[in-house]
Amino acid sequence: MKTIILAEKPSVGKEIARVLGCHKKNKAFMESSNYIVTWAMGHLVELADPGSYHPDWKTWAMDYLPMLPEKMKHKVIRRTSHQFNAIKGLFKRQDVNNLIIATDAGREGELVARWIMRLGGWKKPFQRLWISSQTDTAIKEGFKNLKPGKNYDNLLRAAEARSEADWIVGLNVTRALTCKYDSRLSAGRVQTPTLAMIIQREEEIKKFIPQPYWTIVADFGKFNGTWHSPKGHSRVQDQEFAQKIVAKVKDQQGEVTSLDIKEKREVPPLAYDLTALQRDANALLGFSAKKTLQTLQRLYEHHKMVTYPRTDSRYITSDMVPTLKDRLQALNNTPYQQFAQKIIQSGIKPGKRLVDDKKVTDHHAIIPTEEKVYLDKLNPEERKLWELIARRFLATLSSDHIYKTIQIIVTVNGEPFHARGKQTITPGWRAISSGEVIQEENEDLPFQNLSQINKGDVFQVVKVTTPQGMTKPPARYTEGTLLAAMENAGKFIDDKMLKSSIEKGGLGTPATRADIIEKLFSNYYIERQGKELVPTSQGFELITLVPKSLKSPELTARWELRLNKISEGTEKNQLFLKDIRDNTKELIVQIQKSTQEFKPQNSGESSCPLCGKKLLATRNKKGKKILVCRSRSCGYESESTHDGSYQGKQSKKEQQISRKLIHKYTDSNAKETFTLGDILKKSLDKDK
Ligand SMILES: [Zn+2]
Repeated sequence: MKTIILAEKPSVGKEIARVLGCHKKNKAFMESSNYIVTWAMGHLVELADPGSYHPDWKTWAMDYLPMLPEKMKHKVIRRTSHQFNAIKGLFKRQDVNNLIIATDAGREGELVARWIMRLGGWKKPFQRLWISSQTDTAIKEGFKNLKPGKNYDNLLRAAEARSEADWIVGLNVTRALTCKYDSRLSAGRVQTPTLAMIIQREEEIKKFIPQPYWTIVADFGKFNGTWHSPKGHSRVQDQEFAQKIVAKVKDQQGEVTSLDIKEKREVPPLAYDLTALQRDANALLGFSAKKTLQTLQRLYEHHKMVTYPRTDSRYITSDMVPTLKDRLQALNNTPYQQFAQKIIQSGIKPGKRLVDDKKVTDHHAIIPTEEKVYLDKLNPEERKLWELIARRFLATLSSDHIYKTIQIIVTVNGEPFHARGKQTITPGWRAISSGEVIQEENEDLPFQNLSQINKGDVFQVVKVTTPQGMTKPPARYTEGTLLAAMENAGKFIDDKMLKSSIEKGGLGTPATRADIIEKLFSNYYIERQGKELVPTSQGFELITLVPKSLKSPELTARWELRLNKISEGTEKNQLFLKDIRDNTKELIVQIQKSTQEFKPQNSGESSCPLCGKKLLATRNKKGKKILVCRSRSCGYESESTHDGSYQGKQSKKEQQISRKLIHKYTDSNAKETFTLGDILKKSLDKDK
């Protein structure tokens, strides 16, 4: 008898087939005398559309809301139905009696497999392959340590609850808003509170009034000193006051009255989880969250050089410690060979900041595998990302960075001027990854070379200046800082009890955050200006129209926490879904009752050539300016021409044809501005 192995996608399936020696090739699977390796292509099954529950639900109308099916239905995704049917065929084979789920080892991967098994009618036993590396060794080890399929039932429950909650909240609220305001407005369980955070920041920036301030800087020849108030402030709001200090110290001599030298240790940073890596890759390489995940996926699956990407752990388990040497050896013939060898020679001594069994759940931190590294096989982006991971890995195994800080106070005519310096004693981990972890900087008090200065030294004030600065508004989110905010959604929560309980909650999961941000782009709610994320006027409009509770990170973080509990088996999914349904009912009532007026801010001059409604200026995914019709049912979209004017999606040829048609079917006294769409619409109306 044979065992079916179900992988997440073709590339992974083919790797497993190679390792297991399945050589008989078929379009949809690979076979040996013991195994049949087949694959999904991401989800092959999804939740059914509203129309399949009730014919009325095919129509977008407020009267039919909320749509709350008692039991959710599923359907095979048509685009990939050939693969689903092939798998279903394998399930029916008489020579098959077992199945191993080898999809992505996480919440979504579990759902991919179980839905296929459910709709494909799999009733026989099944097991789970759960691995964190795609190397041959890891795959072989994984097959020796297969887990009972039932062990992951709670994970499945959490996955289903997540997808049903997104369906129920997303489809109902989107339809309610669209019907109420007759405009394209789409909301989602995680997407909307994320957008609300971006809008809130933008409003803080708009409200912010910059204030001037001055600092008083004395040039002592060898170094500069910055005046500090008795309370330790360096900024002065009153320019006259600053001038008084200047007059007091000008041309005077100062004495070093305080010299404070401290030795400090800086521990290595933690290893990367997905969110931390996405943040650094955004800040240092300018990668979007999605690009980092995609690049990382290739490093994991194709090159096998790093471990499982979709992790939220920054630690490894103690049983992995013996593998560290091989992982370091794998860095030979890379620019990091020398660092890796140094760590091996001085003895690998991983500390508690790297090894912690309690802080590893489904997967450990992202670290290099034991697979020998061939850098010339990587494209430039893969290489840059791999280098971040390799450097961080080496840093976590390196010694502390030890340095000396020197703080001095030079007193001039009773006024204190501060200066500080820094000297490295042992570079430690900073020798390998200095750029990634930014040190605490104080822009008014930069580090200077103060190594030769002693207490009691006297310095002449060469010059005193009062440079003016302006207070700055909070910074706009970048993808990197937005990821941090999503991860720490608790920061926005007032309730202290809840705040501590959702520390692990946040908005979305590490695996889904990149997609959520992409959705905000594709729905025209935010755009990129350089690295900054700027809300569009549509984004502002949506946030004024959605009910308050859907804007709050609090509620979403609470749902996320409950999903975690479902996967741990400490909360019932039925209870969660009942609450989601009740909450959705409430949201719909709130939208129906809302007296909020819809004031399009960005309607511009032009109207839709098809339906006459206002057009929204926005950008498509490629960053190109386009106009879209507000009306959902219309769906008109135009592209901009290079002179900045807009043009319908028709080609020149199509325009010519439609002009001819218009001419042919219109009476000569009709307005010439009519488009073909108008005329078609008119004739359809006549037929009614
Ligand atoms: Zn239209």
